[in-house]
Amino acid sequence: HITADRIIAFVERVATSIKAERDYLTQLDAAIGDADHGLNLDRGFSVVLTKLPTVADKDIGTILKAVGTTLVSTVGGASGPLYGTAFLRAGMVIGDRQTIGAINLIGAFEAALEGIQSRGKSGRGEKTMIDAIAPGIEAFKAAHFRGIDLLEALEEGLVACEAGMQATIPMLATKGRASYLGERSIGHQDPGATSAYLMAKALVETVR
Ligand code: ADP
Ligand code: MG
Ligand code: MG
Repeated sequence: HITADRIIAFVERVATSIKAERDYLTQLDAAIGDADHGLNLDRGFSVVLTKLPTVADKDIGTILKAVGTTLVSTVGGASGPLYGTAFLRAGMVIGDRQTIGAINLIGAFEAALEGIQSRGKSGRGEKTMIDAIAPGIEAFKAAHFRGIDLLEALEEGLVACEAGMQATIPMLATKGRASYLGERSIGHQDPGATSAYLMAKALVETVR
């Protein structure tokens, strides 16, 4: 099971990873967007870090909703409202629990993905964060229902998430700024799929 303390550690790890990879994410966005993805997320998660102490002794839903609200209000660009909605929806589904297991995680992941898809009016195969997130959730879920333990199932999800991220390279973008490039969006890895993978990796490393 994952405790509220672990969730705090996860959010801190995401902030650290985004800061470390800020320039890489921004370079990916320079190729098919407006070169701000790393800057956007780093700004957002830096503010999230300042807010964490106010929710450090709260339940998991409250922590995740605080992250979501902060991202929506501080990140300019498409990724802020999308990730913000994801954390908000996950927090709403988890509610006032102090610990969660695989079933709660599956519910939270699916709610987060639905939130992104409804907010972004997007689905799989459009060269976005969804192409890393959706296969990751699917693999995690399949692994869990085969009966393997939480960490191993998360590891399997992470492998599928990374493959999904890499699979955005040959895709044609049909959503977001990259879609303005048409065929020229082909051949570049999607920045949002990359940040989604970094967040998934931070989760697995926190549980490990
Ligand atoms: P902006 O494009 O506004 O500058 P960012 O650079 O922060 O915002 O984020 C870009 C990322 O957001 C893209 O790489 C893509 O993964 C994701 N994205 C953009 N539009 C959508 C959408 N409609 N649905 C899902 N993800 C999207
Ligand atoms: Mg951008
Ligand atoms: Mg922008």
